[in-house]
Amino acid sequence: MIQLPEKVKYIINRIMEAGHEAYAVGGCIRDSILGRRPDDWDITTSASPEQVKGLFDHTIDTGIQHGTVTVMIGKEGFEVTTYRIDGKYEDGRHPSEVTFTPNLTEDLKRRDFTMNAMAYNDRSGLVDVFGGIDDIRRKIIRCVGEPKERFKEDALRMMRAVRFSGQLGYEIEANTSKAIKELSHNLIRVSAERIQTELIKLAISPHPENLRLAWETGITQVILPEFDVCMATEQNNPHHCYNVGEHILKSMEAVRPEKVLRLAMLFHDIGKPGAITADEAGIHHFYGHPALSAQMAKGILRRLKFDNQTIYFVTGLVKYHDYDVKPASGSVRRAIMKTGEDIFPLLFEVKAADIKAQSTFMREEKEDALKAVYKVYQQVVSEKQCVSLKGLAVTGKDLIEETGMQAGPELGVMLKKLLDFVVEDPSRNEREVLLKAAKEFK
Ligand code: ATP
Ligand code: MG
Repeated sequence: MIQLPEKVKYIINRIMEAGHEAYAVGGCIRDSILGRRPDDWDITTSASPEQVKGLFDHTIDTGIQHGTVTVMIGKEGFEVTTYRIDGKYEDGRHPSEVTFTPNLTEDLKRRDFTMNAMAYNDRSGLVDVFGGIDDIRRKIIRCVGEPKERFKEDALRMMRAVRFSGQLGYEIEANTSKAIKELSHNLIRVSAERIQTELIKLAISPHPENLRLAWETGITQVILPEFDVCMATEQNNPHHCYNVGEHILKSMEAVRPEKVLRLAMLFHDIGKPGAITADEAGIHHFYGHPALSAQMAKGILRRLKFDNQTIYFVTGLVKYHDYDVKPASGSVRRAIMKTGEDIFPLLFEVKAADIKAQSTFMREEKEDALKAVYKVYQQVVSEKQCVSLKGLAVTGKDLIEETGMQAGPELGVMLKKLLDFVVEDPSRNEREVLLKAAKEFK
């Protein structure tokens, strides 16, 4: 059932021939059993790091103080870790102190969930001391040992439980879930980087809507309290039959599993609760909320230490998700100019997901309108119509040389004016026409 790659077999055999134990372990065994392709193969061994280093030509001391040596086979690296018992995890990626042990079961015991605590080699077959196979069969995420103890050691495991439920569509076992409810506040001490990694994995998983489990167990209250506010906000609007939070979950489900798209859906309405105004009929309006949502998204993403590129795309998509575009080339060109050539094409996916996550009221009409805009967009692209400064038939240098303008902020303003002029009517994108216009605009 489990097919070890040749290089993994080689490493395991070499360690065993030297008289030690060695197994592939953890995520790679779980994924093999599930028929998923493992990202990486981790090896666990009774040999000490020094002994492992002595057995291979090329090794790197990746985490030697935690017992991990990377064995290089050609250009590929494999982490080989000595059996260990973990001390308490501090804020970082690794426990603050570890003790080596000669006993495989002790090493498996430190692992978070039963499905992640299995080991395998070709000689001994599968080692499954904690019922990992049974839990996989029942589609259950269960802690190894006493959940409360395990979550006290490392609070991130609570977030990992929810993330695995999203990736695998499994339920979190009742005791494990109860412990999360009791201890979710401990996540406050976990570093933003570790939380970010799990949030991304959940967001791009087949079940991003399982973020609901994070809400039910109190996790979002700690890491994303803005979402809890959305869960408590009714929309009172015929287009939206769900509260804001439910609509967010549905929209995440409706969009392709791409990081910036899923995060854009997570945040696209995050500022709605702060933007409510009710009219005399008691209908809620959320005027201007995309700008507020984008601003809040930026704050949240920064808090979670996301990189600038991700922040740029997500906030751009949130800010413009409601931007009104008509199926006419001028409207489309103006929208591309405003939103950006990189953001605009992704907006179709965001808008489509947003529509799918609303009530069925006028859904077909909205979808048809979006398709009509897309057709026009394709035409604008295929005709290479000018929508940004780099498509303009004149440059700043041309303006300096031909109109006597000086380098400086006015030059930028002029180029922007010329772009507006061309976006109105693409036939104006000729050098002579633009130089003449520039002289008139001065
Ligand atoms: P992924 O599919 O994201 O790689 P994974 O379970 O393989 O998931 P890794 O971070 O690669 O996660 O860790 C490999 C193994 O190490 C896990 O399967 C588990 O046995 C153990 N492990 C990882 N993180 C923890 C943790 N926080 N607490 C306990 N054990 C952990
Ligand atoms: Mg892994």
